[in-house]
Amino acid sequence: MTPAVTYELIKKDKQTGARLGIVHTPHGSFETPAFMPVGTQATVKTMSPEELKEIGSGIILSNTYHLWLRPGHDIIGEAGGLHKFMNWDRPILTDSGGFQVFSLSDMRKIEEEGVHFRHHLDGSKLFLSPEKSMEIQNALGSDIMMAFDECPPYPASHDYMKASVERTSRWAERCLGAHSRPEDQGLFGIVQGGEYEDLRRQSAADLVSLDFPGYAVGGLSVGEPKDVMNRVLEFTTPLLPEGKPRYLMGVGSPDALIDGSIRGIDMFDCVLPTRIARNGTLMTSQGRLVVRNAKFARDFGPLDPNCDCHVCKNYSRAYIRHLIKAEESFGIRLTSYHNLYFLLNLMEQVRQAIREDRLGDFREEFFEQYGYNKPNAKNF
Ligand SMILES: [Zn+2]
Repeated sequence: MTPAVTYELIKKDKQTGARLGIVHTPHGSFETPAFMPVGTQATVKTMSPEELKEIGSGIILSNTYHLWLRPGHDIIGEAGGLHKFMNWDRPILTDSGGFQVFSLSDMRKIEEEGVHFRHHLDGSKLFLSPEKSMEIQNALGSDIMMAFDECPPYPASHDYMKASVERTSRWAERCLGAHSRPEDQGLFGIVQGGEYEDLRRQSAADLVSLDFPGYAVGGLSVGEPKDVMNRVLEFTTPLLPEGKPRYLMGVGSPDALIDGSIRGIDMFDCVLPTRIARNGTLMTSQGRLVVRNAKFARDFGPLDPNCDCHVCKNYSRAYIRHLIKAEESFGIRLTSYHNLYFLLNLMEQVRQAIREDRLGDFREEFFEQYGYNKPNAKNF
């Protein structure tokens, strides 16, 4: 049986070793390194599927936890799956629900069988396990499913992390056993182990032996400094098979997308661009811009003079500032559109730099222009 999800390595950047590739799925292919906009509730907030296509989104992510609780995976299954339900015919990745259980619910109890917790909205008692996560994701029909893992907080002790990694490996095996649609959905394993090299090695070895069609690096972007994340990636990505995609979970700041690509990552996701857009914060070619600030009240120029998105071609900083301050929903549509366009366009520039063997140079130019090299700069 051909796996539902496969990876084609096109070439590596001669300066950095970053990978240019294509991930093939039952709903089409997308080029990597790729950023995946997050559509938690079966919608990327404020964006229509048509707009997502217009800005070049090759794949989106949706959250199993939220869709399980509302409207329920049975309803989405009856609709013919998540693609039909939300009118998105390109690839979809769903997470396992584990991260939300661990981050949204403080009333939880982890057992070998799974996790007991309370609903974050109504307080009712719920239970999520590897088998339940697979049942939900099989009903949603995502192209890429994620194994149910534990995502421990940062920092965690070596003892705690070791027990957690071992449980995550046992859960990964149970996920494979419970996955009922391997011919049309690819299940990725998640390497855990925090900042500990021996545990990342152990986790990667366990998961690679189970032969998943792709692997994620989990447990990063949970509050650790950026140099810790980069160091962990440096010793973790070489442990993963060359011929399969690698996904760094929960990362979406421009510097981390570039630095992750340089360390051999192919896929990223994060709510950052849409979350900051909702309070009027933009990513631009010259760095972070807070359009709410009074200094933009009479600025009739675009959000980003170097951006050719629909928003920057047609609307001014002064107008968008007014909409955001007046709490008009059109304002956050415009800022969300621009921020997503900015990140998708950044990834296209990263892929182009790999094609031309100049990602190291591109990183330097970008960091200089974005302001990452300035001491104490406020950035994303
Ligand atoms: Zn723009």
